[in-house]
Amino acid sequence: MDYSVLADYYEKLESVSSKLKKRDILAELFRITPTEELPKVVLLVQGIVFPRFADHELGVAVQMMIKAISKSSGVSMRDVENKFKETGDLGSTAEYCIKSRKQSTLLRKKLTVDNVFSILQSLAFVVGQGSQGKKLSLISKLLVSGSPKEVRYIARTILEDLRVGVAEGIIRDAIVEAFLAEENVNKEEKQKISDLVEYSYNIVSDFGEVAKIAKEGGVEALKKVKVQIGKPIQGMLGLAAESIEEVVKEFGKISAQYKYDGSRVQIHRSGEKIWVYTRRLEDITKQFPDIVEFCKKGLKSSECIVEGEALGIDRKTGFPVPFQILSQRIHRKYDIKKMVREIPVMVHLFDVLHENGKMLFDKPLKERWRILEKIVAPILGKFELAKQIVTDDLKELEKFYEESLKAGQEGLMLKVLESPYIFGRHVGTMYKIKPLMESLDLVIVGATWGEGARTNWLTSYILACVDPDTGKLLEVGMMSTGLNEAQYSEMTEKLKPLITSEKGRTVYVKPKIIVEVGYQEIQKSPHSTSGFSLRFPRFIRERTEKSEPDTLERIESLFKSQGKVG
Ligand code: ATP
Repeated sequence: MDYSVLADYYEKLESVSSKLKKRDILAELFRITPTEELPKVVLLVQGIVFPRFADHELGVAVQMMIKAISKSSGVSMRDVENKFKETGDLGSTAEYCIKSRKQSTLLRKKLTVDNVFSILQSLAFVVGQGSQGKKLSLISKLLVSGSPKEVRYIARTILEDLRVGVAEGIIRDAIVEAFLAEENVNKEEKQKISDLVEYSYNIVSDFGEVAKIAKEGGVEALKKVKVQIGKPIQGMLGLAAESIEEVVKEFGKISAQYKYDGSRVQIHRSGEKIWVYTRRLEDITKQFPDIVEFCKKGLKSSECIVEGEALGIDRKTGFPVPFQILSQRIHRKYDIKKMVREIPVMVHLFDVLHENGKMLFDKPLKERWRILEKIVAPILGKFELAKQIVTDDLKELEKFYEESLKAGQEGLMLKVLESPYIFGRHVGTMYKIKPLMESLDLVIVGATWGEGARTNWLTSYILACVDPDTGKLLEVGMMSTGLNEAQYSEMTEKLKPLITSEKGRTVYVKPKIIVEVGYQEIQKSPHSTSGFSLRFPRFIRERTEKSEPDTLERIESLFKSQGKVG
């Protein structure tokens, strides 16, 4: 397929914002793409040339791209830089420069998806002495041959910033639309097909491969998709719970495990070959030769996939080191031996997903745990099972929680014994219990009237922080718990005279009342003007002594301190 065809589709995708339209454009593209090129095209529309889990980087910096644009168009570096400053996008900068190219078009060669793809991939393998020059010449070769529109997208792909707005959900839906949805299939069946595509993706982690299977073998082939040892699987995630009691009330006897404060590792083993992946499915095998050794000694199964949490350990105290320190090892590409000595790790295993040729996703947790116990020969202080108790006794669970915190861990994971392994974050699988974060002081800028017996009270409060640079108040979501009846009534009386406008059941008030708010977590939220919201916000008290709420900066820094990568 000519690369110009793909560039036309990129342009179409870029020109629409509706997800449905994007899906239809992609479905059409997938349909017209020859089968053998389909995996490549599916990666390219995501702006990548390797599946996300592959340990390859193109390693091209902005400055090199500027040089390549200048070299292939004859436009001076300075002019390229100026254009870049103006547009903020090296793709359109390249397009502009190539349009005004002074070089002869005789050098142009028609670009195909295949050759662009393989040149882009080869960039990742140019290393060592003289690599910069070689990369520059490979990129220039592409830019010289491309049309202005083609180079717009080639440059952006190289810089890993394609800007056509195609998220994973849209790719999944486009695969359904292109190959699997018969004309008169009803909504329910379509949902099932979409779930199947999602399931296959969760197992192979590469939509390119899923698309090819869907095109060649349809629904039946997707049903047979199997885990491939060495290819990472999307993990199961936890939901925040407000209390241990709430989870026990709903599920009775549960598995409670320490929630270790490190980095999740998904370990694959096939004989002597071991792979270690992070939660984001990055391959970190090279960075963790120690984990590879633990597995060779501590795993009795020669073919399996297990999951656990890797913790950095302080050599003197034996306590876990903060995640930021462990993350130095995750991102380190050299001096690995030194890092292994300086920041030793230990792994606590908590799940097994595949063993001896069998996928275990459908097995309940209690059975997976039994298998895990069987295949792990613990190495004390290095490679152990996660600490676990199985009970519905609240006192015992509270004690276990305290123990976990005292040991420097994050809290508990509460797991539903009957739950299969479900990819992503779902109700009824596993829950996390962590201490509340440092409280925040926020100002009430609005409220809503209650319902039923509470119709005369303002019972939910819109909270805001301040951006000190502009003085603007920025919303961080709503709070409606933590007050008793007397406090609701008192708050209502205080807010009423401050009302400036009303809209339906919501009132807006002058920002006078500052409250201290507890919460479990700060989350990113595109819907609130601050960009953040609080999980389980809870009224603690009114801060009559304060006249300014906390700043956006404080929220950002608390958010960062709770967040972790890997
Ligand atoms: P968030 O995703 O909201 O930032 P988080 O990192 O705590 O929070 P969750 O999905 O809520 O992620 O919790 C599961 C994570 O906790 C796993 O990815 C793993 O890294 C870590 N973890 C530590 N101990 C355990 C355990 N015993 N069982 C499962 N996960 C554990």
